[in-house]
Amino acid sequence: MSILNQLHSIKKQLAPHVSLVAVSKTKPVADIEAAYQAGQRVFGENKIQEMAQKWEQLPKDIEWHMIGHIQTNKIKYMAPFVSLVHGVDRIKVLTELQKQAEKNNRVISCLLQVHIATEETKFGFSASEIEAFIREKSFENFSNLQIKGLMGMASFTKDKRQISSEFKGLKKLYDWCCSQGSNFEVLSMGMSGDYPEAIAQGSNMIRVGSLIFGSRN
Ligand SMILES: *Cc1c(COP(=O)(O)O)cnc(C)c1O
Repeated sequence: MSILNQLHSIKKQLAPHVSLVAVSKTKPVADIEAAYQAGQRVFGENKIQEMAQKWEQLPKDIEWHMIGHIQTNKIKYMAPFVSLVHGVDRIKVLTELQKQAEKNNRVISCLLQVHIATEETKFGFSASEIEAFIREKSFENFSNLQIKGLMGMASFTKDKRQISSEFKGLKKLYDWCCSQGSNFEVLSMGMSGDYPEAIAQGSNMIRVGSLIFGSRN
């Protein structure tokens, strides 16, 4: 199946409120161009320098999302152009994002990553850290950041019930944040293997790579 066909078959399953981030990490610029020709404008990368190189080469109406773990010393390379940073998993990242956003005279949008999986290898804040962050209105310390919502990755397992229950927990936390007046609008959850479960639990942004571009090496 071509990139175009794959994109169309995923997109036609999505309700209008669910947006698709095409995850192009490790894939060549030509693949991104094919998706761009098919109408896709939002792409996700997990390495800041790779994303910056692709940004330089590709049309400027592409929205670049940083979905991976963030090294704070690299934030300066994406601060001029990044549209949404999904993987904010510690206060140090917010502090450096704030500094670089200010330098670039921008407001940078980001999501707080929540650790919902059973594996310890996945990054993110705990639910109680998120609750404390909202209660203490900690976002007021970051005037050049707009914290737009939450992001999470489910466990790597075939057990669909477990995956659904992890997504459900994240949706519950997201709803709680909204009830506290946080102005959240993005709940980023779901990848190639689990996006139907994520959407069923209330995701409004899915990050799909291999299903569009084929498997990675
Ligand atoms: C790689 C990656 C994806 C996409 O994974 P696929 O299984 O290829 O769809 C989504 N989210 C994050 C955070 C990733 O690192």
